Amino acid sequence: MMYLPILAIVMIVLLISIFIFVVRQERLEEQKYKLIEDTLWVEQNLSFHLKLHETNLERILLDSQGMESQSLIMTRLQHLKTIHNEVAAITWYDTKQNVLAHFSSVGVQQKPWTLAIPATRVWGLAYTTEEGQAAVDLVLPTLDANNEISGLLQVTILLGELLLNHVPWWIVESYEVVLVGLDNEEIVRRSQNVALNPLSHTMSLDPPLHGVNVRLTPYSSPFLPLLNSLIMAVIGLAALAIINLMVQFYYARKRQQAEQALLSEKAFRSAMENSMTTGMRARDLQGKILYVNSAFCRLVGRKKEEIIGLTPPMPWWPSEVVSEAQERHYLQNQMPRAQSFETRFQHSSGKILDVQVHEAPLIDTEGKHVGWMGSMIDISSRKEQEEHADRQVQALQQTAHLMTLGEMTTTLAHELNQPLSVIASYAAGCFNALSDPVVDKDTLRYGIEQIALQNKRAGEIIRRTHDFVRKREPVLRPESLRGILDSCTEIMRKDFLKHRVALNYQKPFPEIQVLADKIMIEQVVLNLLNNALEAVRYLPLQQRNIQLTTQIQEGYALVIVRDTGVGVDEELVPLLFQPFTTTKSQGMGIGLNICRSIIELHRGTIWFEAIEKTGACFVFSVPITEA
Ligand code: ADP
Repeated sequence: MMYLPILAIVMIVLLISIFIFVVRQERLEEQKYKLIEDTLWVEQNLSFHLKLHETNLERILLDSQGMESQSLIMTRLQHLKTIHNEVAAITWYDTKQNVLAHFSSVGVQQKPWTLAIPATRVWGLAYTTEEGQAAVDLVLPTLDANNEISGLLQVTILLGELLLNHVPWWIVESYEVVLVGLDNEEIVRRSQNVALNPLSHTMSLDPPLHGVNVRLTPYSSPFLPLLNSLIMAVIGLAALAIINLMVQFYYARKRQQAEQALLSEKAFRSAMENSMTTGMRARDLQGKILYVNSAFCRLVGRKKEEIIGLTPPMPWWPSEVVSEAQERHYLQNQMPRAQSFETRFQHSSGKILDVQVHEAPLIDTEGKHVGWMGSMIDISSRKEQEEHADRQVQALQQTAHLMTLGEMTTTLAHELNQPLSVIASYAAGCFNALSDPVVDKDTLRYGIEQIALQNKRAGEIIRRTHDFVRKREPVLRPESLRGILDSCTEIMRKDFLKHRVALNYQKPFPEIQVLADKIMIEQVVLNLLNNALEAVRYLPLQQRNIQLTTQIQEGYALVIVRDTGVGVDEELVPLLFQPFTTTKSQGMGIGLNICRSIIELHRGTIWFEAIEKTGACFVFSVPITEA
């Protein structure tokens, strides 16, 4: 494709050149033809004039034949010489070579005739006079009244003058006119200008002039150089056009390469942008959206075309954040610097997302602050987990409270013991006082007052404890067993990782719905997983295995926590769910007890299953419900 225009140009140049060449050839032919024509014309003209001289002289001689008086002949010859410049000299000889008459122009030295008298007129060969002029002699015999040869007339004609007189100006202007000899040697020329044209035409003047040719050479025609320069101009222009084309091609290729590079760069950038999980958004100082990537579009559930060009308030701002967002925008523009904040977005489906935004000033190439570039990450699930963990901590604290219940019960028993024994002894005192004949009312009143006082104290102790323990009533509702187990394993994940314990958790499939207080059941599962972790954590690595599975049995879901730990001593088994049963130095021994209370609250059961080799297995059941 690239060479096509060049080919076209070359073809055009070729065609034009051929055209010019043909025209040139034609022109040359024409010129040649004209040259021949003009040469012929000159030759004819010169011949005609020579012939004319010949005829004139013959006539004069004929007219004078037999005449006594020679004066008339002399006059006519004189006249002839006068009117024809080229006739330079005339000499009349008698048969004895005596000169009867002689006329010559100034500066012309005629060669005397020394040969025999010819019978008829004779043209001599061209020669050069002593003065250096080219000349030719015409010799005519003169006859007397008896037709006898009586003498001879020698007429010298200057060829230079002949050309001067009989080659017209319009020939001289166009041609170099030269008379040449047989070997092309120059005899005489009409003008001093020399034609350098290879084209010339020569024509013989014989007869009458033997060995003399006339040669015409055209001065170069103005048309031919014009054609030549036209060809040069066409070639020059074509060369220019080709160079121009090459330059264009060069730049076109460069541009194409640059475009290609740009395209692949763009493709790479968009691939990068699309694979990014962080939402990116650029806006100008007025808040108008200039750019968003695919992750941002996914975040707000809208198309790029819908988003670009939007101005605040944005459709993904939930109503409660609108004023806060606008205020932040105003403050940001007051003091541009990078900052992070959390906000909320509403997905087009209506779902509210928690988003972590990091924003930095957008600086253009001139260093001017023109807007803001922000990256957003959906932190909803993280937030949910945090909230769940908070709830879990809260619940665990609750459990801890319950755990201290044991201690409290002891204290309670101790504390109650005192008012109760005081009451008993005051009651005994009062009773004794009543049996006295004289009843001291004051003593009795004091005793009864003390009894009432101590009773009140005991009542308060009991109420306080009661208040503390009955903080939370179980709330039973259908819950996903998988959801409960998932969140427990998630909470324990870090601990398992830390102690490099392998948890084999088989998610309940299909989904099981149980009627349960989620937090309480989670406490049970967490407690069992925690006990299992403690049972395996100091064992060799390959023995640190815990299995969490589920089963369905007669309307109940069974949750089974099995470990490969140290196991439970046989004599401890019946006491496991009793309060204060512990083998741990820091243990309270009420975890399993609370678990049993919780499970019983759910109308389920919890039990221990011995494992043949090592380890323990705890199972509890909760009733299944319809979703
Ligand atoms: P604590 O953990 O405070 O001791 P628990 O009631 O949770 O209280 O446990 C009571 C006791 O049961 C533990 O001290 C331990 O001896 C035994 N036990 C519980 N779970 C396991 C288990 N998975 N493997 C071995 N022993 C266990």
